[in-house]
Amino acid sequence: MLNATLSNRNTASQRQMPSAHMLKTMELLACPVGELEAEVERELSENPALRLVEEMRCPECRRRVHSLPCPACMGKMTTENALVFVSPRTSPSSAVTQSEYDESPIDRVQQSITLSEHVLQQVAPLVSATQREIAVYILERLDNRGFLPETPAEVAHYLKVPVADVQLVLEKINQADPVGVAASGVRECLQLQVRALEAEGTAHPLANSILTDHFEILASADIVALARACGQPLAIVKAAVEFIQKRLSPNPARARWTHQDAGDQRFYQPDVLITRDPHRPDGPLLVEVFSAASGWLEVDPELKTMTKEINDPSQKLEWRQHLERAELFVKCMRQRNNAMRLIVTSVVQRQYNFIVGTNADYQPMTRAELAKELKYNESTISRAVADKRVQMPSGRMVRMDQFFDRSLAVRDAVREIVKAEQRALTDDQISLALKQFGYSVARRTVAKYRSMESIQPANMRSRAAARVPA
Ligand SMILES: [Zn+2]
Repeated sequence: MLNATLSNRNTASQRQMPSAHMLKTMELLACPVGELEAEVERELSENPALRLVEEMRCPECRRRVHSLPCPACMGKMTTENALVFVSPRTSPSSAVTQSEYDESPIDRVQQSITLSEHVLQQVAPLVSATQREIAVYILERLDNRGFLPETPAEVAHYLKVPVADVQLVLEKINQADPVGVAASGVRECLQLQVRALEAEGTAHPLANSILTDHFEILASADIVALARACGQPLAIVKAAVEFIQKRLSPNPARARWTHQDAGDQRFYQPDVLITRDPHRPDGPLLVEVFSAASGWLEVDPELKTMTKEINDPSQKLEWRQHLERAELFVKCMRQRNNAMRLIVTSVVQRQYNFIVGTNADYQPMTRAELAKELKYNESTISRAVADKRVQMPSGRMVRMDQFFDRSLAVRDAVREIVKAEQRALTDDQISLALKQFGYSVARRTVAKYRSMESIQPANMRSRAAARVPA
């Protein structure tokens, strides 16, 4: 069903105008969980035929269950090393407390957290109890851009704690998501982000030195002067500046995923939460893909019966329209959740070592590869990945697009090298040349990136060059 709607398998239907059904599913797929909650809330308030049933149901088989994942569907959701399931829970950090039960469902789906809370959740498990108090103080002092207007020495003096402790806590805060929070200003904030990307192997090799040594020239936007100061070719410096502008954010508190309309800085919960079962530390990862509602959505069955019995034609029509719209919404929501689960399952399977290990364990993967594997359109994958956050077992928060295409900067460098080559370089030679850009990339990976950039192998390139006399 989903495949027929979203896949590239069914080319005949693809040529037709996209159905309302498909458009709605795609729209829901693109929403991060916070926006999705708002969407569900709006739909519930506008459509009397739609209702939220506040009981635990399995999103797959819709059986009533005591806990998720549903025991009956567990087999379907287990891969070699992870259990991936759609979860209606809106608060991932703890089981639902009594006070949350007392709130209306609308109040509960509105939950979002502030920047300080968001950072503290990540930092708290990494530090001691005393250091946690330092973290709380620092996070309370942030200005509206997310910067810390005090020096570590001032914080230490005020709290009467060693400066070294403040520095250690500050370092953890700086590295939490969004990277660069609690920096002293724009420059330091950007430097922190470059260092994080360097650790991933995706930073432009010149970016750090531009920020550190030539920040004033960068700010003046004079590329020629900047190239002269760096002693580097204009094209490379231009690429570095583009990298700084596109990949770094001078304002961590206004990261992309803050709530657009709220004006305040409220941060939403992750879209996907990856944890370990505390009772089975060696067991599979538990991967929760959050759905938006605190229960499950259904078309009101009583309203369905009533509509059949109504005699007034215009009223009957109105109720029918409500019912149709509710049915569409329920169906699209189910498809959205199902697509998210399939995509997340595949990502977790491929990136298991990266999730439990370090950045060095990252496996190159593209949206196109995943699309092919799942028989989706690439745009479906892009929508599912856009603006989503994944909380790792360590508590670290990563953007879901960080699981994909991290090779972009390296691929840019490969293109640069091939463009500048006097004679066609082999993949081994390109690999060597990449070292000068600061990238350590194996020959096989070079071959892969080269083909992703539609650059032919060396022997084909030299033959092509031979045909064109210089
Ligand atoms: Zn089930």
